[in-house]
Parts: sequence; C-alpha cells; structure tokens
Amino acid sequence: MENKLTFKDLNLISELNKALTKQKYTTPTPIQSRSIPDLLKGRDLIGIAQTGTGKTAAFVLPILQNMTEKHPRKIKALVLAPTRELAAQIGESFSVYGEFLRFRHTVIFGGVGQGKQVQALARGVDIVVATPGRLLDLMQQKKLNLNDIEFFVLDEADRMLDMGFIHDIKKVLAILPQKKQSLFFSATMSKEINKLANALLKDPVHVEVTAQATTVDLIEQYIFFIDASSKEKLLLELLRQKHLTSVLIFTRTKHRANKIALFLNKNDIASDAIHGNKSQNARTKAINDFKTGNIKVLVATDIAARGIDIDDISHVINFELPNEPESYVHRIGRTARAGAEGTAFSFCSAEERDYLRDIEKLIKKKIKVMDHTFHSETAKNAVGAAAKPKPKKSFGRNSGFKNNTSKNKQFNNNKSGNRFNRRPKRNV
Ligand code: AMP
Repeated sequence: MENKLTFKDLNLISELNKALTKQKYTTPTPIQSRSIPDLLKGRDLIGIAQTGTGKTAAFVLPILQNMTEKHPRKIKALVLAPTRELAAQIGESFSVYGEFLRFRHTVIFGGVGQGKQVQALARGVDIVVATPGRLLDLMQQKKLNLNDIEFFVLDEADRMLDMGFIHDIKKVLAILPQKKQSLFFSATMSKEINKLANALLKDPVHVEVTAQATTVDLIEQYIFFIDASSKEKLLLELLRQKHLTSVLIFTRTKHRANKIALFLNKNDIASDAIHGNKSQNARTKAINDFKTGNIKVLVATDIAARGIDIDDISHVINFELPNEPESYVHRIGRTARAGAEGTAFSFCSAEERDYLRDIEKLIKKKIKVMDHTFHSETAKNAVGAAAKPKPKKSFGRNSGFKNNTSKNKQFNNNKSGNRFNRRPKRNV
C-alpha cells in the first residue's frame, strides 16, 4: 500500500517528534501510519505484523502520547513479550521514543535474579515490559500492582501460544482492570489467535501489513542444493567471501548452533551462538559483539533470534531449513530491515526437500538455485520419503540413527532432554 504520510501528519506531540527526528525517522512504516491514528483515539487494535515492520514504534508512540500523568510512577502500561530479547528491545524503544518525556519504565524477565527488578518496581515505574513467567512470579509475590493499567499490549501472540504461555497470559489478563486500551500483535493469524484476540479486545481496528510479501521481495534469495555432509565446507567457502560482512546463521537445534559456532571459530571466523540454553549475559554479549562487528557471524535458533533488533545484517544463511515455512519468512526478514536490501542463502539437503516445497508454496515463488561446488542433484530431485527427515525414535539403541556414534548419542540425549521442556518453556 502507498504510504506517503510523514510523522508530521500523525499529530504526535513535540516530545515524540523530537525523538523521531533524533532517530532520523521521517516516514512512518505502513503499520505505523495505519495504527497510530486509531490508537491515539483510544481504539483497541489487532495488528498482524512481523518483527521488522516497525510495529514496536506503532504501539510505543501512542502509549507514550496518551498515557495520563495522573498516578505518576504507578504502572499504567503493561507490555507482554515472549522472549527476554524482545522485551529488552521494547524497553529500549520506550527509552528512545520517550527520551523527552518523564515516564519511567522497567523490563522484567526470568533467567536472572529478581532483586534488581523488584527494586526498580519499588522505586515506581509507569511502564512495565515483561515476559509472562517472571511477571506472574512477581505478581504472586505481590511485588507489583496492576490496578492502574490503562494500556495492555500482547506482542508476538502467536509465539506466546507456541511457547505455551497461554495459561500465564490468562492469569495476567484476569487481574487487569476491565477499562483499558488493549493491543494485540501477531505475525500470523490462526483460529486460536483469533479466539484469544476476541477474548481480549473490544471492537478492535484490524491492521494487517503484508510485510511478508514486501519484505520477502526485497531480499535476494538463493537455494543451495547440497548433501548434509558438505554443508560445513560450503559455509566456510561462503563466509570467506568479503561481501558477507555480517551474517546471521540459522539452525533448527541448539546443539547444531553450538557446533557451527565452534567449527567457525576453529577456522578463524569469529562467531558465537545464541539459544535458550545460554545465560542472559552470554546472549547479550554475543548480540553486542555481533552489532559492533567484533564477531562477523551469529548462529541462532529460531526462537532465540526472534525479535532481535540488528539493523545491518548483510546475509542470512539457513544452514538448516525450518520445518515451519513461516519461520523461513521470519528468518530472512532479519536482513533487509526497514526497507534495506539483503540476501538470504538456504542450504537444502535431500531430507529437507519437502520443507523447501512448503516454503515456496507459502512465498508463492520459486527460489533461485545457486550453482556451486557442492551442488547435489540428489537433493534437488528428492521426492517421497527421501525428501523428508529420517524418522527418529527418541530413545537409546533403537534411535533410528544410522551411525549411533557417541556424537549421535549425545544428540539423542539432548533430544530426549526435551521431555523436561514439555512444561511451558520460559525465557527462551
Ligand atoms: P520493529 O518491527 O519494531 O522491530 O522495528 C524494526 C526496525 O525498524 C527497528 O530497528 C526500528 O528502529 C526501525 N524503525 C521503526 N520505525 C521506523 C521508521 N519509521 N523509519 C525507519 N526505521 C524505523
């Protein structure tokens, strides 16, 4: 959709315009120009938009503008996000856009001691950005009071449901005041999402940005058909090219993410991995090292990478294709942020061939095939059982792995370790 408005047309207060000018943002993104006017009028909203569309500013700006100055230092806005990284980034957006206003915010997430968060709450804040698990813990300990909430935002609702947060969310919702403005964002729509949205929102405005198509169209995408055993060699060959300046690599498992980071470091390519098993400090350090160029490569799993706000990623490499086609769109959207151009390389072995077919169906186009040293016709032509992952049985000797080497055993153990993750997984 054409989007000729400037921020000046949105009737934002001067304090917010000043912050936007400082960021050198002049033109609102489609989700911003289509949400902000209704949000300023106090409407509830359901926004179908993925990260990278500018959705954070779409809710942060109206909240900052409409928040009343009564009840200073009482919590008037609550934003729930699925991961600590996303929560931290939303907190950062409140700092950036709220620089010339007097509201105070804090970010609450698990995986670290609660002491500092409790202190921040005790000092008094106007805005809380939180992951659901830690928020509930603190609510149960009566460390915060949500009676004065005027704004409630549920961000990345689809991911929240995927991560099993639904019960936590319902518990939080149950204690919020009835009268409030509620905003609901999700990258995808489903029956379940719709149900949750209906329970939460009153006569909402619907805004759907077709970022999937537009973002995807801006990205140069290539597929490399390859045997799984050659993927590391190809990766090295690619990463040694100069124009791959800042590369985000995706894997399906934490184990594989670690393995690749290790392999690259051994081959003198500075890299680090982020995933749910890493401490918050280790993840923050890895992201900062990547942002500042200390490391050229960051290896991530889907969930860990969601919401990470890094602007200058030159290339996304899908070392393994995701089994959910939507994840492909999320992944490659990490490059080509806010209108820039980017490149995405995807490695596809025979057993991932059907994943690629699903992806191409979703994005409604064939991805260009790259000619390269390790090209595999077998991978390219795989159909039927050969185009799917080999069936895995989770346990022990009959695991279905052809070579049950100690490495594979370790992998199996890791997998069966997921038994412990059946409970909703927090702080991923
Ligand atoms: P988000 O979808 O909220 O994660 O935002 C994606 C990126 O776009 C972030 O780096 C924002 O700082 C940036 N951004 C947000 N709004 C604008 C805008 N109007 N113009 C340029 N960049 C923006």
